[in-house]
Amino acid sequence: MLQPQVGIDFDNNERNVVCEVTLIEQGQHAAHEPDQNESNNTPPCPYCNSVARQLVGTKDFNRRTTDLTFQYFQCKKCGLVFMDPIPADMRPFYEGGYQKIPNSLSELRAIAETEKYRMKPILKYKNGGRLLEIGPWVGVFSCNAKDAGFDVTAIDIDENCISFLNNVVGVRALQSSDPAETLGQIKEKFDVIAMWHCLEHLPNPWAVIQRAAERLAPGGVLLVAIPNIESYEFSALGAAWKHLDAPRHLYFYPAKSLVTLCRVNGLKEVELTTTDELSNALSRDAWYSWASARIPVKYVRGVIGLVTYFYARNRAKKKPACGSGLTAVFQCPHVVAPPRQSSL
Ligand SMILES: [Zn+2]
Repeated sequence: MLQPQVGIDFDNNERNVVCEVTLIEQGQHAAHEPDQNESNNTPPCPYCNSVARQLVGTKDFNRRTTDLTFQYFQCKKCGLVFMDPIPADMRPFYEGGYQKIPNSLSELRAIAETEKYRMKPILKYKNGGRLLEIGPWVGVFSCNAKDAGFDVTAIDIDENCISFLNNVVGVRALQSSDPAETLGQIKEKFDVIAMWHCLEHLPNPWAVIQRAAERLAPGGVLLVAIPNIESYEFSALGAAWKHLDAPRHLYFYPAKSLVTLCRVNGLKEVELTTTDELSNALSRDAWYSWASARIPVKYVRGVIGLVTYFYARNRAKKKPACGSGLTAVFQCPHVVAPPRQSSL
């Protein structure tokens, strides 16, 4: 069996991506070829078992739930960035959640109004149909999708969010700590599957992508938004880059690696960008957070955060594809090959 290896060039507006594909034998992809110069102390890639290099060590600077240092490594073969070891019990690091549950649907809608731009990459391909959101939290995107006419299903780990989604937002919400397993149990197909900054939290992201691809209807689209480990902000701030968010973020996919994973699962990339509204907001937030941790005076750190952000954006013009977020859309082929008929 052949697997695609991908080289990516972003065009000027980063809306479309051009990929050059060469094929290698799958056996080569999975082979673990020890590097003579590599330390024996680095763990192998959890996806392809190849040699990895140490990338960065960091702490929980965002929530300060622990003083532990967490190590990230990058696979030399497939590019996956992974945390190792992963704590056996992640619950202490999530206490308090990510977003307060609104008191009412109108309160949620007021928040959703500010994030309607997230529908844009979906509406370019689908105007309605069945939509599944994985990791919706309180359901800001799910609410907008429902209001736009989609039949929305959601999968989330948090029981309070599931209750809010079912009883207040009015979408079908399934509680699960293992979306890959839940996707395997769902029989229906979806026109849209969306994962907004969810994949990096999951213990088996490759399995989630595989199952999501299997659950897409012909012509259906998969939206994956993740922190961009190839961002200018990470290269400049390193361990202090806010969106490492250790230890809650377990995995990071460089664009090429994400495209390769989706292609292996039969999907074609139709959009990749690191300069959409969300990615720009994440870049601004990265600089503001960095300034806040170092400058005690509120207004001064705000100004420093803005100055560094605009400096970084200026750099980004010279080096495309380096905002703090990556938003990608993949599409299932319109015609799925029928199962082979026996000649007997
Ligand atoms: Zn790998």
